Amino acid sequence: MAHRVLAVDDSLLMHKAIASTLRDTEFELVAQGKNGEEAVELYVEHRPDLVLMDIVMPKLSGKEALKKILALDPSARVIMISSLGTDDAVTECLQAGARRFVQKPFESQQLLNAMRSVLRHP
Ligand SMILES: [Mg+2]
Repeated sequence: MAHRVLAVDDSLLMHKAIASTLRDTEFELVAQGKNGEEAVELYVEHRPDLVLMDIVMPKLSGKEALKKILALDPSARVIMISSLGTDDAVTECLQAGARRFVQKPFESQQLLNAMRSVLRHP
């Protein structure tokens, strides 16, 4: 059965890149959001197996959305995808419970490897 994925990013280009990466894989993109508020709402609505989350977004950042989602569901699997490579925000997300960090721009195989790795280590 396909692993259900929620992708949240304020960039339409990134949504397209994620959608094309997941096409014809064991992952199914069940919902896409464009800010942290939508991330929390869509998480509650869909309860995905995996969340791909940008950090810098309007309304509510990915970092805050991550914390809210983990407060609702401590077993949530969230991978941060951001261009903030060495930023403190990345460290803070990992300390808060994000499972992986993937640097933008990403190679498809790199993202899929991170996703598979997270599912193997629940
Ligand atoms: Mg962004």
